Amino acid sequence: MAREELLSPDDQPEDAGLLLNEPGLRPKTLSEFVGQSELKGHLGVMLGAAARRREAADHLLFAGPPGLGKTTLANIIAAEMGTNLQVTSGPALERAGDLASILSKLEDGDVLFIDEIHRLPRPVEEVLYPAMEDFRIDVVLGKGPAARSIPLDLARFTLVGATTRTGLITGPLRDRFGLVARLDYYEVDDLQSIAMRAAGILEVDIDEGGAFEIARRSRGTPRIANRLLRQVRDYAEVERDGHISAEVAKDGLSFFGVDELGLDKASRAVLDSVCRRFGGGPVGLSTLAISVSEPTETVEDVYEPYLIQQGLLMRTPRGRVATPAAYAHLGMAPPPATSTGPGSQTGLFDSDD
Ligand code: ADP
Repeated sequence: MAREELLSPDDQPEDAGLLLNEPGLRPKTLSEFVGQSELKGHLGVMLGAAARRREAADHLLFAGPPGLGKTTLANIIAAEMGTNLQVTSGPALERAGDLASILSKLEDGDVLFIDEIHRLPRPVEEVLYPAMEDFRIDVVLGKGPAARSIPLDLARFTLVGATTRTGLITGPLRDRFGLVARLDYYEVDDLQSIAMRAAGILEVDIDEGGAFEIARRSRGTPRIANRLLRQVRDYAEVERDGHISAEVAKDGLSFFGVDELGLDKASRAVLDSVCRRFGGGPVGLSTLAISVSEPTETVEDVYEPYLIQQGLLMRTPRGRVATPAAYAHLGMAPPPATSTGPGSQTGLFDSDD
C-alpha cells in the first residue's frame, strides 16, 4: 500500500470515484454514515435544531486518525443543511489574507471545512477567533503607522475543523467550537457493513464472510476497508472467479502483504524496529521515526495509535515500549526483561517524545 495514500488526510480522488471512474463511496447523508452512533445522535439533534431556528449550526471540531470520516461528515453537514461546502486546509492558508478572502465570500449557513486545522499559522488562527465568535473580521488597510483596521461583517457560517489530535489545538481555538468530537476506530461489524455497502456501489460480488475478513484487517478505518476491498476485488478477478469469499479475501490480503491484524509493511516496520533494533524499548519517538525513515508526525498520528489500541505498543514517559503481544505477533521470543518495570502502567499518558 503506498504510504502517501494512507497519509494524506485530503480528499482522496478515489473517495470521489474520480480515479477509477467508479461511483463515489462517500456517504451523503447521516443515515448512510455507518457507526459512530453517539456522534451521529448529537449531530442529528444539533442540525435539526439549527434547521428549525433557520440558523447556521454551531462550529464543530472532529479529531481522530486519518480515514475515519471527518471530511465525509463535513460534506454531510452541508448536505443536510442544504448549504454550500468550502474546503481548505491549515497548511494551505499561509497568510491572514488567504483566510479573510475565503471568509468574506461565505454565504449564510455555508459550511467551511478546514482540514489539519492544527497546522494553521498563528496569525491566521487569530483571524478565526472573531470570525467564529462574532462573525466579524478586521481587515487591515495600509502598512505601518498609517495602517487602519476596518471591521467587516461576515455571513453566519459553520466552521468544521478536522485534526488528528485535539491536544494539538490551542485552547482559545478549541474553546470556540460548540462541539468537539473524537472519532474512534470502528468496530469490525461496522467495517463489515462499510465493505458490504462499498461492494454494492462498486458491484463487487462478495459474501458476508469475505466482507468480515476485509473488515477485521482494516485497522478500524473505513478508508482502509474500501481500499482493501478494491485490492481483493482485483485479486479475485485475476486469480479466482471474481467472487469474494472469506478464503479468497484471506488469500488476496496476504498476497498484498496485509497480515492477520491488518498491519501493512509500514506498520510492521515500526513494530519490528522497536522489538528488534531497540530490544523492545523504551525508545524515543524521534529515534524510532528515523529508524523507519518516516516523519515523527506520521509515526505518531498514523501508525502508532492503532498499534497502541491493539496492545502491541505502549507509550511511557521514557519512550515507546513493545508488549509481549508484539513479539508474539512478529513470531519472536520476547527478551527476558520485556516486563517494562515500574512506570509501565503509564502507557496511556503522552510522553514528550
Ligand atoms: P478523514 O477526513 O477522517 O481522513 P474521510 O472522511 O475522507 O476521512 O473518509 C475516508 C473514506 O472512508 C470516505 O471516502 C468514505 O468512503 C469512507 N468512510 C468514512 N467514514 C465512513 C462511514 N462512517 N461510513 C461509510 N464510509 C465511510
